Amino acid sequence: MVLFAGYGVLCLVPLILAALQGQPLRNISRELSSGLVMVGYVMMLLQFVLSGRFEWLSGRIGIDRTMRFHQVASWAILAFIVVHPLLYAAPRLIPDPADALVALNRMFSSPNLRSGVIAWWLMILLVPVAVFRDRLPFRYELWRLSHGLFAIAIAMLGTHHTLRVGSYSADPWLAAFWIAATALALLAMIHIYVFKPLMQLSAPYRVALNRKVADRMWEITVEPERNEAIRFAAGQFVWLNLGHSPFSLTEHPFSISSAPADRPHVIFTIKESGDFTNRIGSITVGTRAYLDGPHGNFTLAGRKVAGVVFIAGGVGFAPIMGMLRQLKVERYPHPLRLIYGNRIETQILYRQEIEALREVLDFEVHYVVSEPSDEWTGLVGELTPSILDKCLAEIRGDEWLFFVCGPPPMMNSVERALFARGISRNRIVSERFKYN
Ligand SMILES: Cc1cc2nc3c(=O)[nH]c(=O)nc-3n(C[C@H](O)[C@H](O)[C@H](O)COP(=O)(O)OP(=O)(O)OC[C@H]3O[C@@H](n4cnc5c(N)ncnc54)[C@H](O)[C@@H]3O)c2cc1C
Repeated sequence: MVLFAGYGVLCLVPLILAALQGQPLRNISRELSSGLVMVGYVMMLLQFVLSGRFEWLSGRIGIDRTMRFHQVASWAILAFIVVHPLLYAAPRLIPDPADALVALNRMFSSPNLRSGVIAWWLMILLVPVAVFRDRLPFRYELWRLSHGLFAIAIAMLGTHHTLRVGSYSADPWLAAFWIAATALALLAMIHIYVFKPLMQLSAPYRVALNRKVADRMWEITVEPERNEAIRFAAGQFVWLNLGHSPFSLTEHPFSISSAPADRPHVIFTIKESGDFTNRIGSITVGTRAYLDGPHGNFTLAGRKVAGVVFIAGGVGFAPIMGMLRQLKVERYPHPLRLIYGNRIETQILYRQEIEALREVLDFEVHYVVSEPSDEWTGLVGELTPSILDKCLAEIRGDEWLFFVCGPPPMMNSVERALFARGISRNRIVSERFKYN
């Protein structure tokens, strides 16, 4: 709430600084155009901080919410920036549409406005490409590079434009605000792509073990080469770089499936699912690794509960395994329930270890398989509301905490089913492995 209020206040700062100048009001569409673009532009600069790479932010509100906010905000920014020149021409539209078009054309070809026009077009490209990137024939890393470079270009061009022709930016306070905000946005990028890799260089890890743990699932264990291992809360994730320079963009987010108590070993459970992960089985012992993190708030640390329900689909069980391992070490006193869905039995991770937890913890587990073999005697189907009802019959939602992690369609349907059971949003902690 405090973060959200701070965000709102920051977005209003340029409007307040403009109002304080006491300039005579121009026509309504020009004032609206300036107001919207100023708010949109602060939001655009704040997107650099909302990129999901700052632990102090995603650790507080979670990577899911951070990325969802980043995505929703980007549509608002796009709308505010796109309407900016259109609103300038709007008053001419009713009396004479042709005249409005001429005015727009003049605006778009004016050398004075060139930096703003380029930023405007780049913005129109940036958001849809990010939203539809999965359908475009680019590798994720190439998209990520282009996304960062476009964002930097828009920030620089936009600031140049506003300082040069902005209606209110002649004011030294507002000009200073734009320069400071742009500098902070660029510093955020430098922090992520220069400072962090530099720090990682001095804290390398090596792969200590790579083993197959289920159908198309691998477990990579890394250990620090010389420093202390990363400190994290069970359930958090890191950006893992295997075998590349920390300055390369070839890193992927993976949940830590080991417990903090297992340090200095840090374990990842990885499913073959694309360009990089399909080759995970061939990673050899001794491969150098770098870790950026820990990130995320998919963790029990600091939460008071009567009991915990874990609902996992497939490899979404990885962070939950990390939590269960830690809870075992701590001899967690409260009841724990696990509902774990998979397509086939051979994809169930760590089954023996899960079964052994019953000896130490108040732990109940329900395996659900959608395409079972003839020998399967457990629950059959997807994690539908009726299956959840069977497994959660005696559970009162206002006292328990629910952790949900798995493929996006499963998560959406599980979250809907939990809401339908009257469980409030703040009792559900979700982690999506895919942002869109
Ligand atoms: C918070 C979080 C925790 C995760 N934990 C695990 C885990 O414990 N085990 C596991 O198997 N998977 C996990 N994933 C998913 C894992 O990151 C992707 O499966 C992996 O990055 C896919 O890479 P690829 O090159 O094999 O697939 P590709 O076919 O190249 O990509 C498939 C999709 O994965 C996403 N993706 C690809 N590369 C990246 C990247 N560098 N950064 C972010 N997203 C990317 C994109 O949405 C892409 O469309 C997690 C994801 C997130 C966001």
